Amino acid sequence: MSTILPVRHQPPLPLDRLILRDPPSAEAIEMDVLIVGAGPAGLACAIELARLVKRDQEAGGGAPDLNIGVLEKAGSLGEHNLSGAVVNPRAFRELFPDLQPADFPFRQPVPDEAVYFMTGSRAQRIPTPPTMHNRGYYTASICEMVRWLGERAEELGVNLFAGFPADALLVDGTAVRGVRTTPSGLDRDGQPGAEYAGPTDLTARVTVVAEGTRGLLGQAWREWQKVGSPNPQLFALGVKELWEVRRPLEAVIHTLGWPLPPDAFGGSFMYPLGPSQVALGLVVGLDYHDASLDVHELLQRMKLHPLFRRQLEGGTLLEWGAKTIPEGGYYAMPKRRSGDGVLFAGDTAGFVDVPSLKGIHYAMQSGMYAARAAFAALKSGDASAAALAPYDRMVDESYIVADMHRTRNMRLAFKDGLYLGGLKAGLMTLTGGRFPGGRIEMAEDAQTPRTPSPAGPFVPDGTLTFSKLDANFKSGNATRDTIPSHLIVGQDLSAEVADFYAHVCPAGVYERDGDRLKVNPPNCVDCKATDVLGPRWTPREGGSGPKYRAM
Ligand SMILES: Cc1cc2nc3c(=O)[nH]c(=O)nc-3n(C[C@H](O)[C@H](O)[C@H](O)COP(=O)(O)OP(=O)(O)OC[C@H]3O[C@@H](n4cnc5c(N)ncnc54)[C@H](O)[C@@H]3O)c2cc1C
Ligand code: SF4
Repeated sequence: MSTILPVRHQPPLPLDRLILRDPPSAEAIEMDVLIVGAGPAGLACAIELARLVKRDQEAGGGAPDLNIGVLEKAGSLGEHNLSGAVVNPRAFRELFPDLQPADFPFRQPVPDEAVYFMTGSRAQRIPTPPTMHNRGYYTASICEMVRWLGERAEELGVNLFAGFPADALLVDGTAVRGVRTTPSGLDRDGQPGAEYAGPTDLTARVTVVAEGTRGLLGQAWREWQKVGSPNPQLFALGVKELWEVRRPLEAVIHTLGWPLPPDAFGGSFMYPLGPSQVALGLVVGLDYHDASLDVHELLQRMKLHPLFRRQLEGGTLLEWGAKTIPEGGYYAMPKRRSGDGVLFAGDTAGFVDVPSLKGIHYAMQSGMYAARAAFAALKSGDASAAALAPYDRMVDESYIVADMHRTRNMRLAFKDGLYLGGLKAGLMTLTGGRFPGGRIEMAEDAQTPRTPSPAGPFVPDGTLTFSKLDANFKSGNATRDTIPSHLIVGQDLSAEVADFYAHVCPAGVYERDGDRLKVNPPNCVDCKATDVLGPRWTPREGGSGPKYRAM
């Protein structure tokens, strides 16, 4: 069995397609501020901005009305959002100071919490590491939060454009001037069909990119503007299920250890979402070494463990989905998250604290800072890089960066495996992040060599465990079969690489067919895992992909 180095088979980022120097079309829609992505970051930005204008006008500050638009690739709000989620309500409180936690779109307060170290048959409760405390927080569905935030934004006059993916940044010199959306109605060969609708240009004085994990526009902008970071961004893949259950889950649960091999970083979560629903998932760092590791399959095996089985038995799988998480932390944050006419907020800028598995409140908070920087810049009539730079200062001086700095080397310590990593992480916690001093260097995930292991076949039972095909159905994915491929796949791939991609992709997009790779693009749920390790993901016709309801 030969070793696979994923980066060797990965096509380059299609920069000339993502950064367009053409002038905007004559029919371009003009906005003052255009936000890409209706997640927590983008919607918090829109709400804060609309409020700043209103407050300034009420105080006689003379702010002009601003035309604020939010583009979202999902057919309707929330359908492409997936999280755990246990939510730190801090950013909600700041954005809605007049509301009480009971008014927020949360399911319930965290009742109790437990962390287990798992072996194949046992679960040993261990003390909750300080970074994993969740008391005072709430469990929630991010789809519900996003729909609720969307309603608040619309009440304030924000224009929400669901079903419109941004395909490229429109630029002029070094300035971002807006975006071009994807066309729709193309046939399998990329030719306009009966339902064809061409791309739309939207121009803006400030574009806020809040496109979430492994953002394509963010990757392109950083490569174009040569904005680096001390370490490359690292990613984990999370596969999640939502279950209707017969008995309530009494605590927020996290596990370490089995079913992951000791040299993989990750763990599982199981959260109560009210008396009759449970969210559970498995999150695995994409720098694992085993080419046959399959996160979807590991999650299925995990459910057979008594800890999960006794909670789920007799219940029903409601939804399934997957998404990556940027987990490089402090040293993987881009040096600059602002530029000429552009700001980057939320996951696309890497604002996630992995030891606590939290990103939602950082995304919202960074969206609010982006709104404040954009508002001040527009009021002064200058949206240059210098005028928008206060955004970086606000983020750097905030709890976002303070929290990420405290855990700066924790994820990185696990490159040496679970046991040594766990020991080092403990010392880091005790020293407030000062141990071991300096920065642990990391290579990007695609640079980790993989060797296939002889894994036995897994046969799902269709009741507790499910195939990728059945799981995909539960994501609500009903993408048109005749859509052109949005995945850029490398040439002349070996059968081993085909197998590797088939394992990486939780949604069954890749299959090995004899010695060749077969690609089923409509199955894609936009998790972006293969964009990290193999074929490039690009935006496709609006409304394609999953239709999550309560993930
Ligand atoms: C399995 C899992 C568990 C997690 N658990 C927790 C948790 O318990 N607590 C917590 O705080 N955080 C958790 N996180 C992290 C958290 O979900 C993210 O940090 C948070 O969602 C980031 O918000 P965002 O707005 O930046 O991105 P997103 O929520 O991803 O929103 C981005 C939006 O942009 C849209 N978009 C993307 N590209 C385009 C485009 N080109 N054009 C138009 N629209 C586009 C997407 O469809 C999406 O709606 C978890 C993440 C995962 C995957
Ligand atoms: S093909 Fe789509 S679903 Fe599969 S790993 Fe890549 S982004 Fe995720």
